[in-house]
Amino acid sequence: MKVKRQKKVQRHLSFYSNNYGFRQPYQILVDGTICLAALTNKVTLKDVIPKYFDSNVKLLTTQCVIIETEKLGRAVYGAMLIVKQFPIHQCGHKDKPLIGSACLASMLKGSNPNRYIIASQDRELQNLVRKMPGAPLLYLHQRVPTLEHPSPASINSVKNKNETKIGITDYQEEVLKDMKKHVFGETTDRPMKRKKKSGPNPLSCLKKKRKVGSDSVSVPAPSGDEKAKKKRKRLKKKLVTTVTVGMDK
Ligand SMILES: [Zn+2]
Repeated sequence: MKVKRQKKVQRHLSFYSNNYGFRQPYQILVDGTICLAALTNKVTLKDVIPKYFDSNVKLLTTQCVIIETEKLGRAVYGAMLIVKQFPIHQCGHKDKPLIGSACLASMLKGSNPNRYIIASQDRELQNLVRKMPGAPLLYLHQRVPTLEHPSPASINSVKNKNETKIGITDYQEEVLKDMKKHVFGETTDRPMKRKKKSGPNPLSCLKKKRKVGSDSVSVPAPSGDEKAKKKRKRLKKKLVTTVTVGMDK
């Protein structure tokens, strides 16, 4: 198998694993149409499908599918033999069997809680499966099994889930982070928050206040009266010293 094709399968499978809880062994519900296509193209589903998935898979069918192929008679005799090789999963239509496509559609129960992969060539069933979120579709493209790309219904359902969960999708979150990094460098939210809170530095304010206060106590701006007093004091001192010096002589 081509590497590119295998990568695609693994990518689709991991989409279903991550978003819809699919786990190995993957349960593949097979109908009569894909068995007929396998017969026409001379491929053995039991061999090619596990090889294509490169994983642990279980090929299953339902009683309704078997009954349908039996009813169709000789035209699909070979397909009936193939479909009868697979284990039967209970579909709950024992008393009133449905046609194969209706039975497999009902197995999905709207949200595919049992995580089936539907394997069918039936166009109507394929369209139904595409409308159901979390329902993978497998078919034969000539001799090659093909797991279809997740349908828009599956992708949109995941998007909506993520949006309601956190308001934005994971992808949008990544883009926002990148934009922040681009604008602010490596900084995160925390320094920005701190910046918002910071006003004038409280310590510097305190210091300033204390300085002003002490100045006003120790060195008041001298008034005119006090200036005169000081001058007189200085003159008195000078006079006393000169007098005493003169007396010594
Ligand atoms: Zn059934």
